[in-house]
Amino acid sequence: MLDKVVIANRGEIALRILRACHALGIKTVAVHSTVDRNLKHVAMADESVCIGGAPAVESYLNMPALIAAAEVTDAQAIHPGYGFLSENADFAERVEQSGFVFIGPRAETIRLMGDKVEAIRAMKSAGVPCVPGSGGPLGEDAAENARIADEIGYPVIVKAAGGGGGRGMRVVHTAAHLHNAIATTKSEAKAAFGNDQVYMEKFLENPRHVEIQVLADGQGNAIHLGERDCSMQRRHQKVVEEAPAPGITPEQRAEIGKVCVEACIRIGYRGAGTFEFLYEDGRFYFIEMNTRIQVEHPVTELITGVDLVREQLLIAAGNKLSIKQSDIVLDGHAIECRINAEDPETFMPSPGLIKHFHSPGGPGVRVDSHIYEGYRVPPNYDSMIGKLIVHGADRDQALARMRVALSEMVVDGIKTNVPLQQRIIGDSGFQRGGVNIHYLEKRLKEQKEKAIDLG
Ligand code: ADP
Repeated sequence: MLDKVVIANRGEIALRILRACHALGIKTVAVHSTVDRNLKHVAMADESVCIGGAPAVESYLNMPALIAAAEVTDAQAIHPGYGFLSENADFAERVEQSGFVFIGPRAETIRLMGDKVEAIRAMKSAGVPCVPGSGGPLGEDAAENARIADEIGYPVIVKAAGGGGGRGMRVVHTAAHLHNAIATTKSEAKAAFGNDQVYMEKFLENPRHVEIQVLADGQGNAIHLGERDCSMQRRHQKVVEEAPAPGITPEQRAEIGKVCVEACIRIGYRGAGTFEFLYEDGRFYFIEMNTRIQVEHPVTELITGVDLVREQLLIAAGNKLSIKQSDIVLDGHAIECRINAEDPETFMPSPGLIKHFHSPGGPGVRVDSHIYEGYRVPPNYDSMIGKLIVHGADRDQALARMRVALSEMVVDGIKTNVPLQQRIIGDSGFQRGGVNIHYLEKRLKEQKEKAIDLG
């Protein structure tokens, strides 16, 4: 087992990792920026190290400072969490070259999956169903690109090979707009990701986002833990997630799960990972693989009983997977609402001092959050301040528990998206289940128009 782990992250996921480490008797090192001294997990960690200034480039993205933190504290491993350096192959490589364990896949796997063009190629040859597309990066030849788009059929989506976080993509409806769209996406991708390669896919008009969670030990063993539905999105960012996905049959789950497991074994995958798919008309289309723990991992934990962060730590310590596919039995239904410090109408970030905080509770309620009364949400980072996750015997019970839990949640002093989450949970379309990825934005637009109509 590992002895001491550096948690190279902040906020709720840092706390989540700390809890998993302490439950396994692993000591923790919290690293933090100058504005993050008061983070909850910093107080709870065995040791803490200030690694730099408030801007993430000076701290949470500062590779030498993070590795130095592991050196001075004599830690063995670094857990990257999600975001920041979690999918940075260079970081994984430098961590391992410095003699530490990177809690995640091998650097070459991260590199492969970080290039979406290469990832799709690898997945296609491993038998994973992909979205019809260019099958490679687009060149400079406008006529050739127009031909590719014609062959795929409009609408198409131009996507950055190095893209992430819902950025670096553009939908094109007609040939007239193709050339410009490619040029703009290219220059944006260059600026944002340092890689101007773009590729083209069929733009699926009404898909759902359904993703498969996997665990693999890099020693020839892999399992899947079913799927999550993350179709409730705004600007390609997930807002609500649930497991299992409404309407997916056990046969479909077993079939797509098996494809993912086989792909993991084929590429020698190690650790926790997620295969993201768009799901339309009963078919799965691979879009990308995330080589890290995801924000929405708790819904899978609640229906499988598997502690995914614990498994990440065990795998990183060199253990073989102790869970077999037949051990994975789905129980009930789980829903997660992301709680953001933002205006529920305008979505503007709302950092500041939390004057009062009351956390929901009761059967089947889990709160993964680092906030507390007197905590000041800094303006420097992502606006997510926690996740409210509920479990029920079935979807209706989970919905009912979420409704009550949201009504109990009090965060005073800053604005949060709790009112928006209440509207989503109360929405009849969401309650029916199985809405597509455009549903939330459509409803938001309708409500805005209605509000204007009413004056
Ligand atoms: P990122 O890495 O930025 O999250 P993804 O490739 O995972 O990028 O896509 C993010 C979201 O963009 C998807 O969940 C979906 O909402 C939308 N999207 C991506 N590709 C397509 C496509 N081919 N058709 C329709 N929507 C898409």
